[in-house]
Amino acid sequence: MADATYDAVIIGAGHNGLALGTYLAKSGLEVAIFEKRAEEGGGLCTEELTRPGFLHNVHCNYHTLVGVSPVYRDLELDKHGLRYEKPEVQMGSVFDDGTALTVHRDLDKTCASIARFSQKDADTFRRLVEETKGYMDLILTTLMFTPPLSMNDITKALVAWGVEDKAEFLSVHLRRLNINQFLDQHFENEKVKAHIAFHTSLGGYSTDRKGLAVTLPLLVGKIDNWHVCVGGSHALAHALWEGFAHAGGRVFLQHGVDRIIVEDGKAVGLELEDGSSVRARQLVASSINLEQTFLKMVDRSVLPDGFAEAAEASPHMDWSYFSVHLAMTRPPQYKAAQFDPDIDQAWVVNVGYDSPAAINKHWETMRSGKLPNACPNAAVNSLFDPTDAPEGHYTGLLRHFAPYSLNPGGPEAWDQMAKEFAVSCIEKWQEAAPNLKDGAILDWATYSPLDISRRIPNMVQGDWMGGLIDLDNMLDQRPFPELSQYQTPVKSLYMCGATQHPHGFITFAPAYNALQVIADDYDLERWWR
Ligand SMILES: Cc1cc2nc3c(=O)[nH]c(=O)nc-3n(C[C@H](O)[C@H](O)[C@H](O)COP(=O)(O)OP(=O)(O)OC[C@H]3O[C@@H](n4cnc5c(N)ncnc54)[C@H](O)[C@@H]3O)c2cc1C
Repeated sequence: MADATYDAVIIGAGHNGLALGTYLAKSGLEVAIFEKRAEEGGGLCTEELTRPGFLHNVHCNYHTLVGVSPVYRDLELDKHGLRYEKPEVQMGSVFDDGTALTVHRDLDKTCASIARFSQKDADTFRRLVEETKGYMDLILTTLMFTPPLSMNDITKALVAWGVEDKAEFLSVHLRRLNINQFLDQHFENEKVKAHIAFHTSLGGYSTDRKGLAVTLPLLVGKIDNWHVCVGGSHALAHALWEGFAHAGGRVFLQHGVDRIIVEDGKAVGLELEDGSSVRARQLVASSINLEQTFLKMVDRSVLPDGFAEAAEASPHMDWSYFSVHLAMTRPPQYKAAQFDPDIDQAWVVNVGYDSPAAINKHWETMRSGKLPNACPNAAVNSLFDPTDAPEGHYTGLLRHFAPYSLNPGGPEAWDQMAKEFAVSCIEKWQEAAPNLKDGAILDWATYSPLDISRRIPNMVQGDWMGGLIDLDNMLDQRPFPELSQYQTPVKSLYMCGATQHPHGFITFAPAYNALQVIADDYDLERWWR
């Protein structure tokens, strides 16, 4: 491209880059985003992977913070065509003994389903949800949509709000427990525990990691807030792009960034892969990974001692996702519908984990680079959004927690193993829903952790979260203390993507929080709430 100058330039047009760009453009800045791929959206990617007309969400499928994240409202994304469906039966588990558990938007129905396994657990679940309900959104907003506090400050704030005593679940001792231990302390039925453990795992919160129990009440409190993005997840990227363009912003696709230009310790522009450069009058923001930003794009000489090493040492997620995308002629009818007919209407279904121990075993297997026996989770979006498949057809998704690097063979072994593992995932689904045999599946395509890192260059090692979710890598420790407040050691260079607090997922929170810091630094008028 011809050399040009903007007020702000942003690296990466994922949802975080697009959101930050739009806020800044609406604040009167001239903003350009530079994106390596041929489309905007990053993880918001929808493609016809199997057959024409079947819209597969290659990465993000579950939008869980709709109505909580302030960005939807501030950027009026509904005015740019964004629509969501919120399934009545949000998720479920089918168990090998023919039983099923379902989670509904209606708490009474969820508790009735849990009570079929344990009345005590149903009462505990109700108490957990109801006790946190009054201040859930306040806590979530405070935790996620402000630059990070320390864990100690949060504990003090809970006491000041007067919720800490009442919310036994949020007390300090949770920091020492993993999610399994919390579940064992409060719930009695293995299947109920398995479903809750499955739900937290889907969000990247490994159930055996010390301290993550502290997040459990928040995760459970939003267990009924999972949304289908109508027309596929890329519809959100499109709405964001449209809002950004309306505000005067420009996205340059297929314009990978090679280097950040630093003069006198200040970021003043970008060098692009095609050899051209752009200048930034005010600021540069990076929504991508630490390796590219700090080990490749800037000289180590402009970073303080130890900073590059800290970026290098920052841990990636220790598991990733393997997906099978399916073109289907009918939706699943589970054997377990004889036990609970609602399971056939559930959006996200755990197929195979009967106990937290089964999930734990899989964490261990995956950390050693082995593939576990198949226990996929299944979703058929067309049940709620028929526009995502040709008339009378269905688009299916099977996901499985999976290692990035296989043992033996390393990441490359995925190219040999993917088909075989996909077949075992499909067979496991068919076992639970026998109507999926005999011509129900027209076609399928695999998408491995290696494919993730090939497609999205910042998702290094298939890291779909921008870094490990761990107590030592959260809040003001994410990605490491010196980089936790969105500013960097390079003046006018900000971080605004999934590497930052709170983490990946379609939350917009890293961008929103970076915006607050930028607004302070540049004296921007806060037109947003
Ligand atoms: C298989 C899978 C399933 C997932 N499922 C869900 C889900 O159901 N729900 C959910 O909320 N989240 C899910 N996620 C996570 C979610 O997709 C990410 O957390 C989210 O996309 C992060 O957003 P971001 O804007 O920070 O970064 P990204 O979406 O990664 O965007 C960064 C952009 O920067 C671009 N880029 C990289 N390097 C350069 C460069 N050198 N120059 C210019 N541009 C560059 C990339 O091409 C990309 O477009 C999933 C992820 C994966 C991989």
